[in-house]
Amino acid sequence: SLIANGGKRPHLAAILVGSDGASETYINAKVKACEMVGFGSTLVRFDSTVSQSDLLSEIKRINNNLDVDGLIVQLPLPSHIDELEVTQAINPKKDVDGFHPENIGRMVLNLPAYLPATPSGILELLQRYNVETSGKHCVVVGRSHIVGSPISILMASNNNPGNCTVTLTHSRTQNLKEITKTADILIVALGKAEFVTSEMVKDGACIIDVGITRAKSDITKTGWKLLGDVAFDEVNHKCSFITPVPGGVGPMTIAMLLKNTLKSAKRAVY
Ligand code: NDP
Repeated sequence: SLIANGGKRPHLAAILVGSDGASETYINAKVKACEMVGFGSTLVRFDSTVSQSDLLSEIKRINNNLDVDGLIVQLPLPSHIDELEVTQAINPKKDVDGFHPENIGRMVLNLPAYLPATPSGILELLQRYNVETSGKHCVVVGRSHIVGSPISILMASNNNPGNCTVTLTHSRTQNLKEITKTADILIVALGKAEFVTSEMVKDGACIIDVGITRAKSDITKTGWKLLGDVAFDEVNHKCSFITPVPGGVGPMTIAMLLKNTLKSAKRAVY
């Protein structure tokens, strides 16, 4: 309807460095999602040996391309590339991944911002399923820049969803089980398959499982399957809500990336 009304077709550009299997899967899913909703997309591929300056030049070129609304660089990058410099080179107004320090700062200050896609997808799930968050205890496991840290800030913010009392845990946290057991909302993003077991969960809790681990499987055609950070089968019966892996937070992440791209095309953020 945007295009039918004379609007611009939203366009997402993505840069992929190297040929890591998981990164290929994620980037292809993003490009395919663009096609599904009628967005334009451009995938720029670089060999894993690309230099920092060539990568920065391409980012600059895309920043200046008026047809492109959103630009993402698939992480992780090879070790010789300075990831922070790359993130900072993206025009914040095209930073639909929400990783640029300007967007992170705006998020912390509760100003209009491109929110990182995975935390944003979690908020959308909580809202759509009418999960009450105000005054609840939210425990986040994992403090990455792309998931754990931003979602802990967003869950504590004066918004709906939000207004939680938040405990952010990580690998140095002591007595993790005692903490997770007190969570009304438990958000798990540590990348260890089936780490959260039934004894770590309070009855009636809402569980958001972000983790994705590839494990070998004798049953599937591909020879592998995806596991979450939560032992779904044993935790399932204890909680009020639980997101499955695959099929929960992952698709929401892609949906929120598209939403950010649409907002950028409409110049609707800032
Ligand atoms: P990272 O892999 O960057 O970091 C893991 C975090 O978990 C760190 O903060 C680490 O603590 C913490 N941690 C590790 N072991 C423990 C432990 N035993 N107890 C408590 N905390 C621990 O996190 P990401 O957010 O990048 O990824 C986490 C998972 O989420 C991965 O499986 C990833 O594939 C998945 N993911 C899924 C997405 C989706 O769309 N569904 C999007 C992004 C990620 P410390 O800081 O002390 O090292």
